[in-house]
Amino acid sequence: EELPDKYAARGFYAKYEPKEILGKGVSSTVRRCIEKETGREFAAKIIDLAGQEPGDSDALRESTLREISILREVAGHPYIIELHDVYESDTFIFLVFELCKNGELFDYLTSVVTLSEKKTKYIMKQLFEALSFVHRKNIVHRDVKPENVLLDDNFNVKLTDFGFARKLKDDEKLHEVCGTPGYLAPELLKSAMFEDEGGYDKAVDVWACGVIMYTLLVGCPPFWHRKQMVMLRNIMEGRFTFSSPEWDDVTDSPKDLIQKILITEPAKRITIDEALDHEFFQILPQAPWHAP
Ligand code: ADP
Ligand code: MG
Repeated sequence: EELPDKYAARGFYAKYEPKEILGKGVSSTVRRCIEKETGREFAAKIIDLAGQEPGDSDALRESTLREISILREVAGHPYIIELHDVYESDTFIFLVFELCKNGELFDYLTSVVTLSEKKTKYIMKQLFEALSFVHRKNIVHRDVKPENVLLDDNFNVKLTDFGFARKLKDDEKLHEVCGTPGYLAPELLKSAMFEDEGGYDKAVDVWACGVIMYTLLVGCPPFWHRKQMVMLRNIMEGRFTFSSPEWDDVTDSPKDLIQKILITEPAKRITIDEALDHEFFQILPQAPWHAP
């Protein structure tokens, strides 16, 4: 019983030298690490199965194995994080990812407050392309937000954190509430609140992209309210405006796209591939752009 555990942890530490913490979740710590043999840098997501309440560790293992299988299914896309290596033991799972030196889109946005239309276009196009690939495999991500959009050395997008992702069967609908409050789609909230609602599907990821795009352009999210219940009601009613003075400097085309995304009725919401065909993306800036 003890042997595979020691092997896995030993295997990871034999091959990699862990360095500073890059991020922390409820049950995981992400550290920069160096592959000893090559000197190459990676990011290791270390999942502590033993540090859980009794009984929770099996569920966490199961959800991590699901995350790994989805990561393998979406591998090979330029804007999706690459899983390089995995070590599994009784007490830990190590996921070794390519390193994104420029960190989270969230931190980048915080440092610059708002992005130009040009930069927003560059980022959103890549994010939509990543999600288009994910959705074509009938996978829904369910936690699209700026903390889970990483930036590599060239400030290209790497979509990460498939911890809530699900593979859907044909026209399957989901009912479970998960994600992050400000990015939750109205149909997800409604299906959580009212029994008779029909559930939700991939369109929740499109909605989250609309929230991100709005936030990138003006530095504040569309439905925010200090009382969370009011915010959730705003989301369900699709109540947002372009009225703040910051919006005066933004042209019509990104506003039109946001308006077509933040539609409460999922069947009427623009799809990922329609969004990619929107006029906002037709004239693209030269890549790569450099921040800040
Ligand atoms: P969680 O499920 O705990 O949210 P994530 O996979 O989202 O785990 O990772 C948590 C954080 O760790 C990210 O938001 C980011 O700040 C950092 N991180 C994760 N993967 C990488 C990576 N490949 N390169 C750089 N930082 C990363
Ligand atoms: Mg995350």
